[in-house]
Amino acid sequence: MAGDVLATDVLIVGGGGAALCAALHLTERAPALDVTIAVKGLLAKSGCTRMVQGGYNAVLNPADSFERHFADTIAGGAFLNEQDLAWILVTRAPAMIRELESRYGCFFDRAPDGSIHQKPFGGQSFDRTVHRGDLTGIEIMERLRDAVLGRRVRVLEDHRAVGLLRDHGEARVCGSVLLDMRRGRFLVAEARATLLATGGGPTMYAVSSPSREKSTDGIAMAYAAGAEVMDMEMVQFHPTGLVVEGSELHGMVLEEGLRGVGGRLYNALGERFMERYDPARMERATRDVVSRACYLEAREGRGSPLGGVWLDLSHLDQDEIAQAFPGMVERTRAAGYDLARGRVEISPTAHYLMGGVRIDARCRTTLDGLYAAGEDASGVQGANRLGGNGVAESLVFGALAGDVIAEEVGARPRIPRDEREAERHIAQASAPLRRERGADAYDLLDRLRRLMWDKVGVVRDGRLLDEAIAELAELTTRAGTIGVHGSREANVEWAAALNLHSLLVASTLIARAAASRTESRGAHYRADFPAQDDREWLAHVVMRSGGDGPRLAVRPVCLTRMNPADALAEADR
Ligand SMILES: Cc1cc2nc3c(=O)[nH]c(=O)nc-3n(C[C@H](O)[C@H](O)[C@H](O)COP(=O)(O)OP(=O)(O)OC[C@H]3O[C@@H](n4cnc5c(N)ncnc54)[C@H](O)[C@@H]3O)c2cc1C
Repeated sequence: MAGDVLATDVLIVGGGGAALCAALHLTERAPALDVTIAVKGLLAKSGCTRMVQGGYNAVLNPADSFERHFADTIAGGAFLNEQDLAWILVTRAPAMIRELESRYGCFFDRAPDGSIHQKPFGGQSFDRTVHRGDLTGIEIMERLRDAVLGRRVRVLEDHRAVGLLRDHGEARVCGSVLLDMRRGRFLVAEARATLLATGGGPTMYAVSSPSREKSTDGIAMAYAAGAEVMDMEMVQFHPTGLVVEGSELHGMVLEEGLRGVGGRLYNALGERFMERYDPARMERATRDVVSRACYLEAREGRGSPLGGVWLDLSHLDQDEIAQAFPGMVERTRAAGYDLARGRVEISPTAHYLMGGVRIDARCRTTLDGLYAAGEDASGVQGANRLGGNGVAESLVFGALAGDVIAEEVGARPRIPRDEREAERHIAQASAPLRRERGADAYDLLDRLRRLMWDKVGVVRDGRLLDEAIAELAELTTRAGTIGVHGSREANVEWAAALNLHSLLVASTLIARAAASRTESRGAHYRADFPAQDDREWLAHVVMRSGGDGPRLAVRPVCLTRMNPADALAEADR
């Protein structure tokens, strides 16, 4: 089936925070450009920016500083951050908050003196998280959406990208094949510049928190087109995912601010077990440390009946909790808990990908014409993202990508694409529809999620990773035989098969990178290599596709501003 063709100047793939900020900056800087947003779900209503509960980190208080925010980010990221990218994040985050309020009409919570209220989050040396109650993402996305709809931007909702288009030399990206999921029709979108902003999303784990439509599509497409990906082993598990067996709420994040205000974690013996893992910071330790502690308590038999532990806020002022966290109180009530008065059963939940497509300081990937921003990109957060730095990254780098593309696209002539590539993408995406009696997509998705949780999860080791790599290869072969039922229109089983395809690509990259990193760092914990090894591993695992699987390279981190020795000296002073 051939697709209709759409020619646009800039194609933005995704409809979350990074995509919308890119569109706003792009249309501001270069209003004459033809800009298209293609989004798998609904504009601003799909993706995780809307789900942001806790808030956005920015230096706003004179007693805080860029250097402190930077040092917190690098320490949290266990020195794996690309420091020039992290510096862009911290130095541009405050201006973006002002832009959100003054240009788009967002309104954040105030302190009694009228200044923007900033709350504590894990791993921060200063309370710098800007928020709107505990539903910050809704405030941001509603306003950004209103602003984008006021601009000259073509919005294609329920259009998922299924593959990137390249020129005949396979060196330059010139758009993407889109699937209009409502009508089941393909659209070939030719573009002079393409921005990936599909928001990563580690939904290949049995317990996960991102929006359900996300399935690492951007990373899988970029990898398939030959772009470099980096730090894929760095998957963040948020420590406090709600445990509600058999429910869609299972894995839903209870925000970090609950630990920030003094929430305590207990095991089945009634012990405040963080004393064993991080006695200085206790529950306010970084996510990697707290997640591992929760996981190990449960694995060593001190967990709840459903394999979690308990979060307890009952020693705090109940009215204050209800007022500060209305969203959390309401959502936990839906699962039968009383957050302010009783214990809530929680488990680590796969939350965020620090790894992704490799970018430079102008959001350019290693492929000409292809840009990436937000959770699709890598390098900003290192081995572990601090709470509040994720949405800041998406908005700051989305805006930056918009500015850069506006500047660069003028110099890019439209180049002829390789026609056969679109046909290949369409044939591959349509294949499950032609096999009525093939393997079951949902069954394979379940197997993938179990496998990743058990063998490539919070605690890893070489033997399990090798087993996982072999099982992933087998699952990938099986996925090539999937058959889906029904028609082309709004076919959710077909969507599941396409999701599985991307998730298998990203899962294989995660497992391969995790197997190669023989140390523990940030979110990547190897039981067989429990120590951090700065001599060998102050380095990224970079991968690109080769003939028979990923080609791996290990490249040193660019320590342009701070190195671990400076940090130690500073701590001793
Ligand atoms: C429950 C939850 C709470 C969070 N709370 C916080 C917080 O308090 N503070 C913080 O800093 N971070 C938080 N995060 C992380 C933060 O939400 C993300 O880092 C950030 O919002 C990602 O933004 P993005 O624009 O890259 O992607 P998203 O906002 O996730 O948007 C991705 C978009 O791409 C679309 N898409 C996906 N695949 C395709 C495709 N193939 N074709 C077309 N479109 C596609 C999606 O539909 C969606 O519109 C939270 C995450 C979750 C899950």
